[in-house]
Order: sequence, then structure tokens, then C-alpha cells
Amino acid sequence: METKQFKAESKRLLDMMINSIYTHKEIFLRELISNASDAIDKLYFKSLTDTGMGISKDDLAILIEVDKDARTLSVSDNGIGMDEQELENNLGTIANSGSFNFKKDNELGEDVDIIGQFGVGFYSTFMVAKEVTVLTRPYGSQKAWKWQSNGVDGYTIEECDKEGFGTQIILTLKDNTDDESYDKYLDQYQLQSLVKKYSDYIRFPIKMDVEHTHYPDDENAEPEKHVVRETLNSMTPIWKKNRSELKDEDYNNFYTEKFMDYTPPLAHIHSHNEGTATYDALLYIPSRAPFDYYSKDYEKGLQLYSSGVMIMEKCADLLPDYFSFVKGLVDSEDLSLNISRELLQHDRQLKLIAKNLEKSIKNELAKMLKNDREKYLKFYEIFGLQFKFGIYQSYGASKDTLEDLLMFPSSFDGKNVTLAEYVSRMKEGQEDIYYACGESIPRIEMLPQLERVKEKGYEVLYFTQDVDEFAIKVMMKYKDKNFKSISDGDLDLESEEEKEQNKKAAEENKDMFEFMTKALDGKVKAVRLSSKLKSHPVCLSAEGSITIEMEKVLGSMPQNENKDIKAEKTLEINGSHPIFEKLRELYGTDKDKLGEYTKLLYSQALLIEGLSIEDPVEFANLVCGLMV
Ligand code: ADP
Repeated sequence: METKQFKAESKRLLDMMINSIYTHKEIFLRELISNASDAIDKLYFKSLTDTGMGISKDDLAILIEVDKDARTLSVSDNGIGMDEQELENNLGTIANSGSFNFKKDNELGEDVDIIGQFGVGFYSTFMVAKEVTVLTRPYGSQKAWKWQSNGVDGYTIEECDKEGFGTQIILTLKDNTDDESYDKYLDQYQLQSLVKKYSDYIRFPIKMDVEHTHYPDDENAEPEKHVVRETLNSMTPIWKKNRSELKDEDYNNFYTEKFMDYTPPLAHIHSHNEGTATYDALLYIPSRAPFDYYSKDYEKGLQLYSSGVMIMEKCADLLPDYFSFVKGLVDSEDLSLNISRELLQHDRQLKLIAKNLEKSIKNELAKMLKNDREKYLKFYEIFGLQFKFGIYQSYGASKDTLEDLLMFPSSFDGKNVTLAEYVSRMKEGQEDIYYACGESIPRIEMLPQLERVKEKGYEVLYFTQDVDEFAIKVMMKYKDKNFKSISDGDLDLESEEEKEQNKKAAEENKDMFEFMTKALDGKVKAVRLSSKLKSHPVCLSAEGSITIEMEKVLGSMPQNENKDIKAEKTLEINGSHPIFEKLRELYGTDKDKLGEYTKLLYSQALLIEGLSIEDPVEFANLVCGLMV
């Protein structure tokens, strides 16, 4: 018989499993039971839509058997089974395991991580077994197949005899070592408690022959032993249970097991709903992003059950993109079992459920923000970006849902604040919500314009993510307050008196500013006196709908057509800075030099804004000219 080799990725994982020092080796049982349950689910589902099969739910079960002498543990199911090709595909190569598609170039770090991060499924058996035998017969087929492997030398597949359809997985346990006793997986109490711990909710009975010892009243008589086949699990899905029956631990265990994340979630939402939409939902907010969360590969969605039977692994329509991080499931009796994906999209009931869920998620997050800010901050750090994209991509339609979940660092104490908090602290006479953009907080704090706004006692939100300004542009307002960039042309910070003075000064220097504007050759719309600078000599401001920050972001995008989108800039000069007097002097004595100085000041302003200088060589020459 030919021995086949595992595919490369499988091989690597197998090596890891065989040599695993993972402390939770016991999870192999849960993986086997889950697979068995899935296989039964598939068959049951088929039988519901194909009534000719004559399968009764009462006959479907998972059986655990132990042979202490042979040191084997077996898990059998009467589910859908596998044919030769499926055996080959499913167990010969890990690439086929839905739960495990890490990138090939992804160096595997500590095994603890990888095992926790991806439910490793079937292969976890090699943490405890030196040999694994799979006997399987697909439903409706006469032929049965035997797959066998010790993990190291590849695997074999051959035809065999098997009574009944379904799959039996037989583990020959590893030999005990000084550190580790594998005998515990032969012990009925251990097995009972493992099933309770990890697989209690499984919808089909998990049965095992349990030995009971009866001690007769007569002390001299031998104790009587008898064996009873018992069901070890309660079979009620956790989401059908009453909230009061469940502890956080139960919710967390279910999560880590079901959603392949070894870190407990930040929060869960468990709701039973009746009325226009009848459903039970159990949703989780994870405490970290899946490794592919911010990639195109990430698929959002909730598991969808129809009266306890899973009909879809990932129903995307149940979650808006901005809540795509939510994991969980929905079970509704309102949905038909054999509804197709296309039909489902238009299902009124499903839409109603989705709407309700969206509200629940929002409320849960708002509650977290109110009652456990630390936790919310942690959450926001990981997933908050999603909300800003959400607002932007919906052109503001999702504003009502999301605006109070947003946070930005602010000049108040450098920490994240909500818009409501900002508004509640606004100074008397302050009309707008001020913000400043830059690639980092320190970078923003260096902006010349900031000084004056802060001096006025206004709090400034710091926008450090590309999407920030785009998001608030589509929001337009928060409550009745406008957003205003501190780089805006008409920041309007001066008193009437100052305005009067500025107007006069502008009038007096009108010719000079026109000369300077010309010297910049169309790069700015105007050069003018600034009302927002305190100690710095110059800054740039933007007029119109494109801000300087937006120009930066658009310019860095891969699409070329964005490269030419530019903000309408104004070069602002600080009238109380010594440089201003110098400029005035040059306007009278040396216009060429004034032209050069203007270019220099403009380049400085670009650099301060984090934009690049259009002609660095010219800039360098001008600076050198000053030096010599
Ligand atoms: P996963 O369950 O995450 O897909 P596994 O490695 O546990 O990954 O299993 C791989 C595949 O093998 C499953 O997707 C399923 O198709 C098949 N399989 C495993 N166990 C059984 C079983 N008891 N009956 C039928 N098919 C099974």
C-alpha cells in the first residue's frame, strides 16, 4: 500500500502537534466532537430538505469509546461520512481545513499561539495520539475507507469494512512520559468532565458507557459493577439558555471554542427577541483583531441557524461593515431551512433582525464607554478605525449610529475624548469644534496655528489617521456644531479690534503681498497677514473643500487621478514676527531678494505642514545663498 505524504503546510503543523508542549492538549476531544457534530448536522440538514432519506433526529448521536488495554480512545458519529477523495482532501492537506489558512510565508512562532489562534481541528489529535485511524463510510455508499497515520511518515488510505454510515476516529494514545500521563484520556471521569467543559451545548447526544459501582449493604459482598450508556451533554445550545443560568465563564468558553480565538472576548450580547422578528442571538466583541482583519481576505458575518440547525457559516448581511468585527450567531425560527443565499439577501425577516442587532451592538458599546472606559479605549484602539470608515463610506448615513462611539485624542490631555465630551467643555462663545491634522500627536503639537487656538482656551481634536478628516467632512456637523480645521483660511479668532488692525495692515501692505503672490507663481492663491500665528513666522491655510490634509492623503493613494487634487492654499505671514519687518524693508530696497525670501518662507510652511517641497534643489540653493 502506498504511503502518501502530507502537504507542506500540514507537515509543519503536524510536527508542531506531535512535539507540542501545549498545556491544553485536552482540546483535541472538543475538536473531534465538533467535527462529528458538524458531520451529523450536514446529514440532518440534508434529510430535512430531502424527505426521502428517512433519518430521524433521535438516531443521530456521537459515541465515545475507551479500550484501556489497547490504550485507544474512539469518537464515532453517524453523520455524513467521507468518500476516498474527501478523506484525501480533508485530512491529507490542511489547506482544506476551513479554519486554517495562514499565509505560507508566515513564520510560525510559539505553538501556543498558533494552536489557540486557529482551531487546528483534526490535527490536534496528534498532540495525544501516536497513531490515528479514521474509518468512514459516506451516507448512501456501500464502500468504506480507512485512513491511517502516525503523523510522521505520511498516511495511507485503503478500502475497509464498516458497519453503518458515518465516521469513527480511533486514537492510539502516546506512551506516558515523566511529565505527561496520557492515561487520563482513558478515564471516564476525565472524559465526562471534558465533554461538560467544552461540548455541553452540542445538539446531538454525546454518549459513553459509564461504569457505576454499587456497594451492597453486606460488607462482605463484592461491590457490583454495571455499565450504563449515558448522555454526557445537556444538548441545550447556550444561546437558548436563560441568561440567568449562565456565567461569564460559560459565555467565554463557548466563544473561545466556537470562534477560534483563545483570548476571551471584551463583551457578549445575549438576546432573546420576540415580536416582529423572533430570534435568539449571541454576539461577541472580540478583544483583538483576527490576523487578517484589516486585509481584503477578512470575511464578516454571523452564523445563521434556523430553529437550531445551522444554515450558514457566515451570513454577511447580518452585520454592517462598521461592526464587521462582531462574532456570533443568530437562531431564528422565522427563516426557512432551505433558503438560498440570493433569496436570503432580500429576506425581510433577516433585514429586521440585522437592524435589531445593529442597535444592540451600538448600545452595548455605548454602555461599555459609559461604564468601563478602560475597556472601551482598548476596544477603540483595535476597532475604532472601522467607525470612521463606516461614516465616510456611507456618506454620513451611519452618522447617527456611530458619532457617539467616535473618539479622538485632544489637546485637553492628549487622551481620547468623545465628541460629546468635547462639546460639554466648549468655552463660552466657542462656536465650532476645532481639529488639527497631522501624522502624529507630536507633529500636530508643532503646528504654528495651534498656539493661537490653544491660547484662546479652545480644545483641539487631533486627527492622526488619514480617514479622520474625510469622515467628519461627510458628517458635516456634530449635533449643531460645525467642525473647523485650525488650518482653515477663515478661522476667525480675532477680536473686533484686532480685525480692524489687521485690515489696516493688509491695506497698507497690499502691493507687497501681491508681489509676493506673483513670486510664488500660482502655487498659492494669496499671501496675507495671519491672525492665527503667535510666535511662528508663517503657516499655510486652505480655502475651499479640499484641505491640506486631504491633499496629502489623496496624493499618497495609489490611484493616479488623485495626485493632482490640490488644496487652495494661502501663505500666511505673522505680522508681529521680525521677519515681517525684514520683508517690508526688502520691498523698498531689493525686490529680487524679497522674491527669494518668499519662496523660502513658502517652502518652510510646506515642510511644517508635512508636505514636500516642490523644488528641493532650488530650496537648498536659496538656503546656501543665505549662508554665504
Ligand atoms: P475544520 O473542522 O476546521 O474544517 P478539521 O481539520 O477538523 O478542520 O477537519 C477537516 C475536514 O475534515 C472538515 O472540514 C470535514 O470536512 C472533514 N471531517 C473531519 N471530521 C469529520 C467527520 N467526523 N465526519 C465527516 N467529515 C469530517
